[in-house]
Amino acid sequence: MPYRGRLAPSPTGYLHLGHAMTFWRAQERCRRRGGQLVLRIEDLDPTRCRPEFRAAIVEDLRWFELEWEEGPDVGGPFGPYVQSERRELHLTAWENLRAAGFIYPCTCSRRDVLEAAGAPHEEDDEPIYPGTCRALNDQRREAQRAGVNWRFRVPEREALRFVDGNFGEQSATTGTEFGDFLIWRKDDVPAYQLAVVVDDAAMEITEVVRGADLLRSTFRQLLLYRALGFAPPEFYHAPLVRDADGQRLAKRDAAVALRGLRARGFAPVDLRTHIAAT
Ligand code: GLU
Repeated sequence: MPYRGRLAPSPTGYLHLGHAMTFWRAQERCRRRGGQLVLRIEDLDPTRCRPEFRAAIVEDLRWFELEWEEGPDVGGPFGPYVQSERRELHLTAWENLRAAGFIYPCTCSRRDVLEAAGAPHEEDDEPIYPGTCRALNDQRREAQRAGVNWRFRVPEREALRFVDGNFGEQSATTGTEFGDFLIWRKDDVPAYQLAVVVDDAAMEITEVVRGADLLRSTFRQLLLYRALGFAPPEFYHAPLVRDADGQRLAKRDAAVALRGLRARGFAPVDLRTHIAAT
């Protein structure tokens, strides 16, 4: 299969040096294999995404010398390349998962989940769902899609594994290391895990290159690939760029925003050399 890679930024802020380095790596891996690179704008969260960030991201990526063969600005055979315009595909996947009994409606609030689960799991960003609504599934299978959260029912203690292109062998047990996760939000927006799998599969992406903050999400996505009957791609997680105090870079930190660095006279090649040396 010909290599197909992607850049999948969310327009929730300006790109920083960490994003740029991950995307640079994605581009290098793609070029080395003579592949095609796709730009996909992940703008599903209406509360956090803003059109002006989308325009700024495209401009910053081009400034950083990234080039893509397919994307919202250049078109291509796998469009649309803006996630919010791909709702029909996401809905079909939701229907298929529901018909096959993989998902259930959940009325727990975020606070309910946090209180029942105690502290968030140390290796993950999300507390393990305590299963309150899982048992009610049979009675509520015909629930409306909107107005409740929908969760994927993870198998009882299944050992999952994959080999990451950068971090090597990875393993996790379902139910103990991560629990039932969000598929569709109660504001009727597909959740990240569902949209990313449906879109990567439909765009025939062969390798997902992204930041190490999503390393553990890969297990959830592998369950979705299986449930939807799609072949999973390869995964390569790039190390996160940290600041001088060892903290992950944040979108709200203007000091590391690409446009700020550009305004201060840095050239893309200087930034890449600097990061490569740290
Ligand atoms: N859109 C996600 C983000 O900006 C990345 C998703 C992915 O690469 O899987 O954090």
